[in-house]
Amino acid sequence: MTTTDVENFPGFPDGITGPDLMDRMRRQAERWGAELYQEDVEFVDVKNAPFTVQSSERKVRCHSIIFATGATANRLRIPGEDEFWSRGISACAICDGASPLFKGQVLAVVGGGDTATEEAIYLTKYARHVHLLVRRDHLKASKAMQDRVFNNPNITVHFNTETVDVVSNPKGQMSGILVRRVDTQKESVLEAKGLFYGIGHSPNSQLLEGQIKLDSSGYILAEKGTTKTSVEGVFAAGDVQDHEWRQAITAAGSGCVAALSVERYLTSNNLLVEFHQKPTEEVKKDLTDRDVQEGFDITLPKHKGQYALRKLYHESPRLLCVLYTSPTCGPCRTLKPIITKVVDEFEHDVHFVEIDITEDPEIAEAAEIMGTPCVHFFKNKEMLKTLSGVKMKREYREFIEANK
Ligand SMILES: Cc1cc2nc3c(=O)[nH]c(=O)nc-3n(C[C@H](O)[C@H](O)[C@H](O)COP(=O)(O)OP(=O)(O)OC[C@H]3O[C@@H](n4cnc5c(N)ncnc54)[C@H](O)[C@@H]3O)c2cc1C
Repeated sequence: MTTTDVENFPGFPDGITGPDLMDRMRRQAERWGAELYQEDVEFVDVKNAPFTVQSSERKVRCHSIIFATGATANRLRIPGEDEFWSRGISACAICDGASPLFKGQVLAVVGGGDTATEEAIYLTKYARHVHLLVRRDHLKASKAMQDRVFNNPNITVHFNTETVDVVSNPKGQMSGILVRRVDTQKESVLEAKGLFYGIGHSPNSQLLEGQIKLDSSGYILAEKGTTKTSVEGVFAAGDVQDHEWRQAITAAGSGCVAALSVERYLTSNNLLVEFHQKPTEEVKKDLTDRDVQEGFDITLPKHKGQYALRKLYHESPRLLCVLYTSPTCGPCRTLKPIITKVVDEFEHDVHFVEIDITEDPEIAEAAEIMGTPCVHFFKNKEMLKTLSGVKMKREYREFIEANK
């Protein structure tokens, strides 16, 4: 869940951030015996029972599955998108908006629905001004969001405006957006240092293509009022089966229906196996506490903060893996356990440092971090590779293996 402040989840009268909500749900599930693996599922077979779920780490056979893979932000596919992706163009204002390179700048958001309006409002916390580029002549966002946009003096809404491309300055940095009026076809350049996409989502149902019924947009088709899919024993919950409501509470609600349905399905087919909880083990702390000057210990594999980064950059003979994060960034929370697990596998060959860009903005600026999460690899003071966003675990592992 990549959203920042969730104001409408029941039970949190003062609101809660998306990542905190996820942490709480995870801890609650673990307390009741759920085993969680943070891995990319690469293959699913629901045509043959028992079903198969396979990641790069393991293969699981099961009698029932709940699919809750969510939906991914759509891209515009403008010509400069690949070149400026994570160097000015982003699909997550919440994750990247706090980046020092966007602070105090003019930024733009494309889209006219709830996502785009929320992103525009969020960006006004950091930006000098935000342009909202809307292809139609009206906003599709809820009335409440429209009011917040129209009442915000730091947002200008451009209706009937298509986003054609981004333009750059002689230094190769993004400096503006080429826009076209839908009515007159007149093109012009709008000054902006960042372009954020808020143009909808596509369901993450590719693993099930050809195996269960999907609608024309790829959303999993569930039997009306249930979470049952076209394959018996396969259930779907959350945004991957819901193009209409797409809220945390509706996703959680359908997740609950799906879980109860699985239990009922397994019981009625005599497939239920009860697991009893093991005594809770103390959770291993992933990272050492933020290193302070006097506490820095180069023999430890994992560190935090700019002091540690400077020391390791100059003194470590090992491959240095630097993870840039920000507190409101959901994907950062996804990546952290993945990357720390990979680092654990190479604990004698790698030094790892986490930099929170809000705590150490100078270092993030010097490293030209445009968005989080972002991983830099160094060896002998030489920058070897940048990996922006969340990649498959094996990508980090293979790079470390080849460069340790
Ligand atoms: C900017 C923004 C703001 C929002 N604000 C709010 C709000 O204020 N209130 C609200 O109620 N809702 C809000 N939402 C909507 C809310 O976040 C979603 O409705 C909710 O997160 C959907 O939950 P989900 O579990 O279906 O999907 P997700 O939360 O997207 O979770 C899907 C998970 O599946 C994982 N996954 C996908 N494919 C694979 C694979 N192959 N292998 C392993 N894992 C996989 C993903 O990594 C992800 O962790 C917002 C959404 C956005 C984008």
